[in-house]
Formats: sequence, structure tokens, C-alpha cells
Amino acid sequence: MTRAPDIADLETRLLAGDRAALARAITLVESRRPDHQALARQLLARVMPHTGKAQRIGITGVPGAGKSTTIEALGRDLTAAGHRVAVLAVDPSSSRTGGSILGDKTRMERLSVDPDAFIRPSPSGGTLGGVTRKTREAMLLCEAAGFDVVIVETVGVGQSETAVADMVDIFLALLIPGGGDELQGIKKGLIEIADLIVINKADADPELAERSAAQYRAALHILTPASPDWTPPVITASGLKGEGLDRLWGQVERHRQVMTANGGRAARRAEQNARWMWAMVGDRLDQAFRAHPGVAALTPGLEDQVRAGQVPASAAADQLLRAFGLEG
Ligand code: GDP
Repeated sequence: MTRAPDIADLETRLLAGDRAALARAITLVESRRPDHQALARQLLARVMPHTGKAQRIGITGVPGAGKSTTIEALGRDLTAAGHRVAVLAVDPSSSRTGGSILGDKTRMERLSVDPDAFIRPSPSGGTLGGVTRKTREAMLLCEAAGFDVVIVETVGVGQSETAVADMVDIFLALLIPGGGDELQGIKKGLIEIADLIVINKADADPELAERSAAQYRAALHILTPASPDWTPPVITASGLKGEGLDRLWGQVERHRQVMTANGGRAARRAEQNARWMWAMVGDRLDQAFRAHPGVAALTPGLEDQVRAGQVPASAAADQLLRAFGLEG
């Protein structure tokens, strides 16, 4: 993006549901240039009244669990039923290596050419916090563009799952039946943040899938659910055969009804927004701090001394904070 876009024009096209405008707006949000970031903030502020209407769904699973197969099948069912579906991703590997666990754009080939779908790969580069911010803002832009279902996909590694669970209304864990350690999710604390557990690939061995589902149900029984009104259901499905996806969507809808009626959904979004505000403040303060000339001049030498154990971390932190103008 070389020329600064006209924000009013971009807003008009975005609100009209133009996918090219949506892609451009997300590129603006992802840009590292401070002028682009300022424009992105302007755009977000303008479209804010048009956000918040989507069903926000997070999906996690280890590589190979069947996320893209299932999302593609579910997405196509949903667009056929009149929904507009956006698929975003938070790929933690992209922030470390620039590489990608979630893979490239060849995934979800059929859904990607569906005029009622919009698929965007994970933003790359920067910290997980940065990737999360960009995805969250992309989600708001998708809502402004009239997408009423936003699916945010991630891979099964701790922090990125928590980050995605914290930006959606319902968080799904897609698991594979059997495979030795059937209750793997419990150890990682995954099923504590999952609102719905889907045992995928049930077509390969239906009995094994049912047995796994029963084990998860039993395990969930001994956990206290996050809401007294919602015990996470465990269902079986086959993304490949498209089986069980109506059940899956039925649970998503039921969750929305139950959590809307008891106020849980609004409370969850309110909490997310407040946490989000503080995370943004933290990010911007961190950037400003590190960019401060006095701090930047001291940082390399001081960090070396702290690493070498020559200066206590607390004393070094004091010195940096003083350089920034904050007194102990
Ligand atoms: P992802 O890495 O989680 O996105 O997984 P993919 O959707 O790419 O699927 C990984 C492999 O599992 C592919 O070869 C799929 O065809 C296969 N697969 C996905 N879902 C199912 C399913 O429900 N049943 C069977 N038998 N295979 C599946």
C-alpha cells in the first residue's frame, strides 16, 4: 500500500460489504507504519457502530485435527443458508518465524471462492499480542462489512488459544478420537476454556469417536463449568463427510440463546473489551518506552549487564524508568 487511502471512501465501500475494501482495510490494520496505524484507528472508530453483530466463533485443534476441512464444510453450509462467513486466523508460529503452522491460502479452496465468504490468513510478524490485536480489529472490520459469522482459527498451543478464546463468544476444541492419550486436552487446560468439544473424524471409527466423547463428558462432569447454565457439550462429527455439522451449528445457536438470555454473552464481551483496552495501553506504552531516546541509549548495554549478572534486574529497571522520566 503506497498511497494513503481515503478513509471516508474506504468506510463507505466497507459498509457496503465490498470484499476488496475489507481486504484493504485489514491491510491497513496490519501495517506497521505509524501513519497507517493512525488511519486504521480512525477507520475503526468510524465503523464501530456497525460492529458487534456477528456470531464470533473460535476454533482450535492440533495440526491435522481437521480444522480447515471442517471450517470449509461448515462455512459452505452456512453461506448456502444465507449467512456471510469470514474466516480469520491466529497462527502463533507466524509471530516467531514468519512461517506458518496453519498453512497457506490453498486451504479451504472452495470456500475461498464463495462470494459470501471471506478468508484471511494470520497476520505475520511481531509478537503474539500484535497478531492478536490485528485479528481482533480484522474481526470488527468483517462485522462492519456485514459478515454475520466470524470464525477465528488457531492451533493447539496454550497462549494463542487463550488469546482467541478471549475475542470470541464461543470457543470450540476440535479433537481427534483415540490416539493413545484421549484426554490430552485436560492436561493443557484446554477443555477448561472450551465451550464446545467436537470429536472430529468420527467417520473413520464411529465407536472410537463415541468412546472418546463419553470420556470427555465424564471428565467435564467433574469440572465446574464457567457458567452454571452451560456445561460444554461433547459431540462427534466428520468435517470430511460433512456429518454432524448441523448438530455443531445447533449447539452454537443454543449457546447464543442461553448466554444471551442469562446476560453471559454481553458480560463476556464487556470483559473482553475492558481487557482489550488495557492490553492496547500496555502495548502502546511499551512501544513508547522502548522508542524513548534516553531509554534506547541505555538499553543494549544495560541488558547485557543484566544478562551477565553484573547488575540486578531491579536496579536496571529503575535506571530505565528514570531515563524515561519516571521516579522510583
Ligand atoms: P487442520 O490442520 O486441522 O486444518 O486439518 P485439515 O483440515 O487440513 O485435515 C488434515 C487431514 O485430515 C486431511 O487429510 C483431511 O482430509 C483429513 N480429515 C479432516 N477431517 C476429516 C474427517 O472428518 N474424517 C477423516 N477421515 N479425515 C478428515
